[in-house]
Amino acid sequence: MPETVENRWIWPFELLERIGQGGMGEVWKARFVKNDRIVAVKLLPSDVTDETVLARFEREVGLLRDMRHPHIVHTFGGMTDGDKGPGKSPNRRFYAMEYLTGGTLQDLLERDGRLGPETVVQYAKQICAALAFAHDRGVIHRDLKPGNFLLAEDGTLKLADFGLAAVREGNKLTAEGRTMGTFRYMAPEQIRGRPPACPQTDLYALGVVLFELLTGVPPFAGETPAETLQMHLKRPAPRVISREPHCPPGLDALVADLMEKRIEDRPATATAVGERLNALDERVALRQRTPTMTMDVPSLRDRERQISDDDLTIPPPPRRVAAPTPWVKWTAAGALALCGLLLPAAARWQTDSAALDRAEARWIERLESGDPLQRVDAAATLGQLGEDGSANYDALLEALESDDLTVRAAAAQALVAFPSQRGELDSILNRVQKEDLEERVRQAAQSTRRTLQQEPEPVGGRGSTLWAWAASLGLLLAAGFVAFKT
Ligand code: ATP
Repeated sequence: MPETVENRWIWPFELLERIGQGGMGEVWKARFVKNDRIVAVKLLPSDVTDETVLARFEREVGLLRDMRHPHIVHTFGGMTDGDKGPGKSPNRRFYAMEYLTGGTLQDLLERDGRLGPETVVQYAKQICAALAFAHDRGVIHRDLKPGNFLLAEDGTLKLADFGLAAVREGNKLTAEGRTMGTFRYMAPEQIRGRPPACPQTDLYALGVVLFELLTGVPPFAGETPAETLQMHLKRPAPRVISREPHCPPGLDALVADLMEKRIEDRPATATAVGERLNALDERVALRQRTPTMTMDVPSLRDRERQISDDDLTIPPPPRRVAAPTPWVKWTAAGALALCGLLLPAAARWQTDSAALDRAEARWIERLESGDPLQRVDAAATLGQLGEDGSANYDALLEALESDDLTVRAAAAQALVAFPSQRGELDSILNRVQKEDLEERVRQAAQSTRRTLQQEPEPVGGRGSTLWAWAASLGLLLAAGFVAFKT
């Protein structure tokens, strides 16, 4: 039995149940004696005696207490336990925090394997809100990992262990005993120890966490910690889309940007990442709305009225024509019924495509904006619209000439959605692959070319669908006409 439970008290808390053990000591479910409130208590290991580490711990706990945010685990404060209370307990540093019952993101990963992109976007938005809040106050987390994201009963995500990595790093003994898990999320600058940890250090770890949530595996996992660290330093991060082809390209691009080796190539702030996530969210909503978009009711009614007026003006058949045989009647009736069914559907299709055009215009505008983050996101979205779009192809070709390498790479990647243009694209991307000065853009062009060469030729886009409908309508009308004539 650990020494802390000898008397089950660490005044003014009664320790009820040990819920976890981390690099920073034990975590206990506890009761606050003054009001019976259930809290979680974290105890610093008793072997930590170094005065500097203890002082740092106290400073960090003070800082945690001031961090009040809906997505940060609320810390009530830290104390040094003395000889108070019903039993004696060793003089140990500890702090109390709100008790959360929903487990951690690590538990979710272990249960479900991986999470869907919509869920990941929702969690990522909450994480970004917490990080932006902390970074604005000069606090870097330094140890983001799925086990540090706790879930409240209502599903809200809360970030724990803020700033405590600095204490852990100062404690040699505990640092040596760290699990391999911790190394999986470390940014290159953290591994090298220079430059000092900065907000983008957390953003790198966020990228690694998002990759793991989306795919179920960490991007870098060597046989040994040293191997994992080498991978973080040297090996380009794998793309989410290579393991999860259904991941929205904008989300895939965001995770790749977060895991850039160089600090300056990553998004600048958690707020900027949050904005990209919001845009992704908006797009998912739009794409979900489009197929079932409500129709323009008055104009459709007008169109229907127009059709029935036209029907009334059809001249009656001349008397000398023999009455149609039953099969002719049935064919004609069937053809007309089908026309009746298809026409409203065609009208609805036009309404949907108008909405799509408006969305496309908005994203093309963003593609031409001054903000590279928005432009990368826009390129990915325009790619998602693929051959359903009308002007996105040209806009993406133009983006291949952008001054910003990330925009060029995103455009080269997004063009994979245009298999019907593969002839033209092959020579354009071949030029990019040979001439672009940036390795990342060349790689994107090469990968798009390769994918396009492997894909079967698709049958038409939006335009051809319209023609197919028009042709089938024409045929049906002709069938009806012929049927009546005979
Ligand atoms: P490290 O401290 O090395 O980062 P860790 O994050 O796994 O490791 P702790 O933060 O000490 O370890 O937490 C251990 C476990 O205790 C967590 O996985 C979680 O299940 C539980 N826990 C921590 N804080 C709380 C809390 N406020 N409410 C409920 N459970 C908690």
